[in-house]
Amino acid sequence: LFTAVEMAPRDPILGLNEQFAADTNPNKVNLGVGVYFDDNGKLPLLQCVQAAEKAMMDKPTARGYLPIDGIAAYDAAVKGLVFGADSDVVKSGRVATVQAIGGTGGLKIGADFLKKISPDAKVLISDPSWENHRALFTNAGFTVETYPYFDQSANGGLGGINFDGMLAALNAAAPGTIVLLHACCHNPTGYDITPAQWDQVIAVVQARNLTAFLDMAYQGFGYGIAEDGAVIGKFVAAGLNIFVSTSFSKSFSLYGERVGALSVVGSSKEETDRVLSQLKIAIRTNYSNPPTHGGAIVAAVLNNPELRALWEQELGEMRVRIKAMRQKLVDGLKAAGVAKDMSFITTQIGMFSYSGLSKDQMVRLRSEFGVYGTDTGRMCVAALNSKNIDYVCQAIAKVI
Ligand code: PMP
Repeated sequence: LFTAVEMAPRDPILGLNEQFAADTNPNKVNLGVGVYFDDNGKLPLLQCVQAAEKAMMDKPTARGYLPIDGIAAYDAAVKGLVFGADSDVVKSGRVATVQAIGGTGGLKIGADFLKKISPDAKVLISDPSWENHRALFTNAGFTVETYPYFDQSANGGLGGINFDGMLAALNAAAPGTIVLLHACCHNPTGYDITPAQWDQVIAVVQARNLTAFLDMAYQGFGYGIAEDGAVIGKFVAAGLNIFVSTSFSKSFSLYGERVGALSVVGSSKEETDRVLSQLKIAIRTNYSNPPTHGGAIVAAVLNNPELRALWEQELGEMRVRIKAMRQKLVDGLKAAGVAKDMSFITTQIGMFSYSGLSKDQMVRLRSEFGVYGTDTGRMCVAALNSKNIDYVCQAIAKVI
């Protein structure tokens, strides 16, 4: 049965993790994986999460099956976060939200539903994109192509967004094409388009009758929860039927609980109800219904004003710390003798920085200094801290 089964290539990021674990360099630093670590290099357990869990433990409940679309209070909280609880679109019943197994699960449920209603549509993802986008939509049966996004030759070779190229590709896309867009904190580049550029993208999506699928894995890591969510409001205001996947892996530091969601905006309540019924089929045939614990934590936090305020504070602290590390990186590289203007690192946003370093330089960083980033030059700035920043700056300066 398995004689012809080929060995699949290793996941590039998880492969890096294995290499990092085996590295005996005492100064090693892992900037490969997209995870936020605190200033002590530890994965945080948020206070708001601890408080919610304590309350749950004080009043233990049995774990029956959840409804197919998850905890109702969770879905309502996600709608509030992504669209605004008092928004017309939510109040008029035009948003279908289902709890999903992480942001990845939200993307997969959306992909399966789209394959049913638009079987011949192509999917366009950004070049480059989160590496799982291509695999996930390909496995759902779609042909996946890219639209230009990052251009290393932009800004005099410092790198930046090729917005004209992006817009031209969207303009050339066939009607019905599914366009995967990073709502904020683009992974892997760290470059987001401006609100005015979003308006242009929305105009093309509308004119070309494209389907926008917004991946929001980092809401709150850019400029703030509402600020980062504003792009969704723009699509809604344009009257578009959109897909939004949400991940709480990073914003709640609940990576392993697999908490996410998919929201779909319909044109009427009646239409949205039909969409929801189909999303439930996609869930039912994939994993039947979602797990309880992570969703219960997030619902408890988001629906309790005190815990919600605490979460916003803690998320704000993560955001501010990442920004401070970006500035320290720029200053530290300069102090370490790097002549090239690296200030683009502070114009990038979210957890990642496309550093502009070549594959050879990234390999040297790993082998000579134990500093791990991806071969594409992506570094997770959310893993820098006051103890490792100087070492990382020295190492980068040496390979540059
Ligand atoms: N989309 C993007 C852009 C991501 O970076 C990630 C996480 N790395 C995901 C989706 C998946 O999120 P989750 O871990 O919640 O499945």
